[in-house]
Amino acid sequence: MSKAIVIANWKMNPLSLKDAKSIFAATKKTAHTLRNVQSVVCPPFIYLNELKNLVSGHRCLIGAQDVFFERNGAYTGEISAAMLAKAGVKYVIVGHSEKRTLGETDEVVNRKILAALKEGLRVVLCVGERERDEHAHYFDFIRGELERSLKGVPRNMMERLVIAYEPIWAIGREAKSADTPEGTFETTLFIRKTIANMYDKKTAMSMPVLYGGSVNKKNAREFLVHGGVQGLLVGRASLTPAHFAEILREADRS
Ligand code: PEP
Repeated sequence: MSKAIVIANWKMNPLSLKDAKSIFAATKKTAHTLRNVQSVVCPPFIYLNELKNLVSGHRCLIGAQDVFFERNGAYTGEISAAMLAKAGVKYVIVGHSEKRTLGETDEVVNRKILAALKEGLRVVLCVGERERDEHAHYFDFIRGELERSLKGVPRNMMERLVIAYEPIWAIGREAKSADTPEGTFETTLFIRKTIANMYDKKTAMSMPVLYGGSVNKKNAREFLVHGGVQGLLVGRASLTPAHFAEILREADRS
C-alpha cells in the first residue's frame, strides 16, 4: 500500500522564523511516529533553508508554494526550480487558486510544471472550480485546467505528479464549507478519467489525488475514507500543530 500524502500549505504564515521552526518541529515529531504517511511542509520561501536544515529522514519533507519557469537570469523576485532542488526541496505546489486569482494562467502553470519536473521535483498541481453548478459544467472547467496545465508533460514524468483537487469555494476563511466526501469522490473519478484519456489507465490509477479545502481534524477521516483520495492539502489547520497532528494520524489510520 502506498503512503497517504498530507501537505501543509502555510501560505504567508507565520510571521517569524522562530514560530516557523517551532511549528515545523512539532509537525516533524508527529510525522516521525507515522509509517503510512508522507508529510510535506510548504513554508514561505524565506524559511525554506532554515527548515530544510531541520529535516531528518524522509517522513517529513519540505516543499515550496510556487516556482518560476525560467532557470536563472533577470527575473526580479522569482525563484527557480533549479534553486529549489539545490536547496533540498522535494515538492512544489503549482497553480494554487490564490496564485490564479492574482493572474496566473494555465499556460504559466504549464511552464512551471515542465520546469519543476525537469529539475526532479514532485509537482502538486492544484485544480478546482470556482462554483459548482447544477449542470456539472464545472467538470469541463477542470478538464480544461488539466489539459492545458499538463500540455507536453511526458508520460514517464507523470509518476512525479500529484493532483490536488481544491474547489475554490471550499478554500480559506471565506469558504462556505468543505466539499462533501461524495462530491470529492465524484470529482476525483472525473480527474482520473481525464488523465486516462490524456495518458493511459495505469498512469491515471497510480497518480495520487489529494483533496484540499477547509480540511480539519473532524472531517479529514471522511475525505480519506470516502473521498477517493490518497491524501490531503491542508491550509489553515496546518498552522496549529495539535490539529495538524490529528489530521496526520487520521491519514496514518486510513
Ligand atoms: C489551501 O489554500 O490550499 C487550503 C486548502 O486552505 P484551507 O485548508 O485553509 O481551506
